[in-house]
Amino acid sequence: MGKVEYNCQAREALKKLIEGNKKYVESSKASIDIDKEALLKNYKDRQAPYAIIVTCSDSRVIPEAIFSAELGDLFVIRVDGNVIDSHQLESIVYAEEHFGTGLVVVLGHTHCSAIDAVVSGHSHEYTEYIATDIKKAIGSEKDEYKACIMNVMHCCDVVESSLMIQQDERESGLNVVGAVYDLETGEVEFI
Ligand SMILES: [Zn+2]
Repeated sequence: MGKVEYNCQAREALKKLIEGNKKYVESSKASIDIDKEALLKNYKDRQAPYAIIVTCSDSRVIPEAIFSAELGDLFVIRVDGNVIDSHQLESIVYAEEHFGTGLVVVLGHTHCSAIDAVVSGHSHEYTEYIATDIKKAIGSEKDEYKACIMNVMHCCDVVESSLMIQQDERESGLNVVGAVYDLETGEVEFI
């Protein structure tokens, strides 16, 4: 985290996400409008998402709504606990290489059942893979919010230390940032 200077495209994308979240929090409703015209336009045009969002599968976390984004704006990768493995990494590289997307956001959220399961010792509720990854990230931390941040930071480190991503960073300046979405307020805190 923070080892790489934000490139221009990533800085612009981050600004859009921060402003989009502010708009969402202030209006308290999603602005995304998907009509037939929008579908057709996005189908015909080449997609050009400005950010890659790796987030939890939790049904209450809707990236397009949270960031006031439109159809085609975000390349979203979802898995419970927003853990990172080779499938997620390959998807990130794909988006960067094919669409020129320069910003990756690992977006955790409060009251995450995957984190809670590990914190409360009920990790058997999850498949061993997700719980194992989260345990690696949070150790014996018992505070749910701190554990969420630790998991996000760990996931960012995994992305950044991936050889594929390091290569991308050198070639085109792919930037990685962590964030936490608050289920109650709708606010996103960038770490
Ligand atoms: Zn979750």
